[in-house]
Amino acid sequence: MTRREWARRALPLLSMQAGSAFAYDLLIRGGHVIDPSQNLSAVRDVAIAGGKIARVAENLSPAVARQTLDARGKIVTPGLVDVHVHVYDGVAPLGIPADPNCIAKGATTVVDAGSAGAHTFPGLRQYVVRMVETRVFALLNISVVGQSTLSTDNPFGELLDLRYANPKLAIRTIEQNRDVILGVKIRLTKNIAGENDLRALALAQEAAQAVNLPLMVHIGGTHSPVEAIVSRLRKGDLITHSFRGGDGGILDGRGRVIGEVRKAMENGVLLDVGHGAGSFSFATAEATFRQEIYPGTISSDVHQFNVDGPVFDLATTLSKFLLLGMSLEEVVRRATWNPAQAFPFPHQPGTLKVGAVGDVAVFEMREGKWVFTDSLGATRTGERRLTPVATVKAGRVYGNAVIPVVRV
Ligand SMILES: [Zn+2]
Repeated sequence: MTRREWARRALPLLSMQAGSAFAYDLLIRGGHVIDPSQNLSAVRDVAIAGGKIARVAENLSPAVARQTLDARGKIVTPGLVDVHVHVYDGVAPLGIPADPNCIAKGATTVVDAGSAGAHTFPGLRQYVVRMVETRVFALLNISVVGQSTLSTDNPFGELLDLRYANPKLAIRTIEQNRDVILGVKIRLTKNIAGENDLRALALAQEAAQAVNLPLMVHIGGTHSPVEAIVSRLRKGDLITHSFRGGDGGILDGRGRVIGEVRKAMENGVLLDVGHGAGSFSFATAEATFRQEIYPGTISSDVHQFNVDGPVFDLATTLSKFLLLGMSLEEVVRRATWNPAQAFPFPHQPGTLKVGAVGDVAVFEMREGKWVFTDSLGATRTGERRLTPVATVKAGRVYGNAVIPVVRV
């Protein structure tokens, strides 16, 4: 979809005036602005000039804005930051196109979590990062081949042969691409790493520590117990698929959060959601929340095998956390300010502070009875569904496609 086609979708909300001497390029008017970075949750106008946030205040005059986006009755947040997606479309078998699934759904900044390794990263940079409208960053897979296999068709993962884990090559690739690569990724499930998990983890840590970037570790169904994995992580590292069901998750056999997981969190390790096709369970999240353990970042892990459900997009994942009892402010924080702090993004995303990049997401909160499904096929009925209606990137407006969800 071209930028113009998206813009057309948002047209009913947009008005424009002729002339040249305007204080603002865009005024997003009258929405309920939620910006956890400045503890703001109130009706405000957001003005953008020169691609950056120029003012957030009440009753700014549309007369001084070239374009006005009518956001009355809508929710306005910083452009969402999704730290776990797969957008190496056409190369990683689970890749999907970035733009229709990210920027068109409110996520202006995304992190491709390990689709590419050192050998396949140049293509990600050349054919995705450079070509799409979504701001795409990457975590480099410690395996040089990245996520080049598929668990259904050829279930022999990227770390079964440990020789593919090459810290030296990873470090070199990261040093040469620090503007795009913000961390290291490793998947440790048995069919991916076999019995190599802890040795592969050590190699990934060697790379991450050498370049001083976070490591994101995919847990679940591992050869070694999760305790052995999480106790090795350092401040700033992320556990993804934290709320998965089944074995190898963060709960013990009696449903209690494992002590080593609590300890890792105390040491500054973040729990990331990474919903995915097999990695989010309502029951796990409910049990975890009862023990007052919450995600640090909410990400979608949207890819080929969940984009048509149960994930759909990040906004749907956020709606699931609303139905689990988190407030809208708490949920938005975990998809804006928290992920923005988790990685060294070069462009200051996740905030509407004056001077920050002019990335904004506009949502409708649709009330009703919405049935949401987790990765195990379990369902819960929620009353609110956060629905993307427009996205703004550096002051330019994109419309959004609305995804149907079963309604009862
Ligand atoms: Zn993933």
